[in-house]
Amino acid sequence: MCYSVAIDGPAGSGKSTVAKMISKELDIIYLDTGAMYRAVTLKVLSENVDFNDISSIKGIVDSISIDFKGNSIYLDGKDVSEDIRSTIVTNNVSDIAKLDYVRTKMVALQQKIASGNNIIMDGRDIGTIVLPDAELKVFLTASIEERARRRFDELVNKGKDVDMEVLKDEIARRDKIDSERSNSPLVQADDAILLDTSSMNINDVINFILGKLKDRDLI
Ligand code: C5P
Repeated sequence: MCYSVAIDGPAGSGKSTVAKMISKELDIIYLDTGAMYRAVTLKVLSENVDFNDISSIKGIVDSISIDFKGNSIYLDGKDVSEDIRSTIVTNNVSDIAKLDYVRTKMVALQQKIASGNNIIMDGRDIGTIVLPDAELKVFLTASIEERARRRFDELVNKGKDVDMEVLKDEIARRDKIDSERSNSPLVQADDAILLDTSSMNINDVINFILGKLKDRDLI
């Protein structure tokens, strides 16, 4: 029997780092659903399409090709793993991800990838919409200060010049749009385990999740 793990939570809560490491440990598929919304946003921005031009956005979503190979994401055959993390994509992705047509297409693709596989997926609506029957659901959170600090360290390590207050504002703005949208908002599923990672390190979080999978006889 296959099992799936849903990891949801706000921006910078450590979801992707944790999910990626668990997928390696268990040798199961990891799907970064945020990367898919980022890829759509990158294409909309690069084609200079107005966010209110729904028919052009539909055209993009219907013709787009998104593939994952190893740790890289390919948009229409091109590796865009770096480009989707740019500030301009980060600051616009929530406005694209709230559109019904975009969500319907991405959720269908995510469910197709999950079908028949052991998988760990991270996002905002995995436990509520994409994988409502996931064997384990975890909602990761952390204080905004801690989430901004982690993002700050990550960007500084990549040699980027960043301002902590600007980062905090960007994260808060994205969380607000993601939480307040009408279509599949960022919300903890009723049967998800809430884990505040503010004072936990990555290994503690991973061991906690692996422990829950063992308790449920899934691994
Ligand atoms: O996970 P990440 O921060 O890369 O996600 C980027 C954005 O994609 C989120 O802020 C949110 O707007 C959108 N997203 C979403 N549903 C998901 C995953 C991401 O709406 N399942």
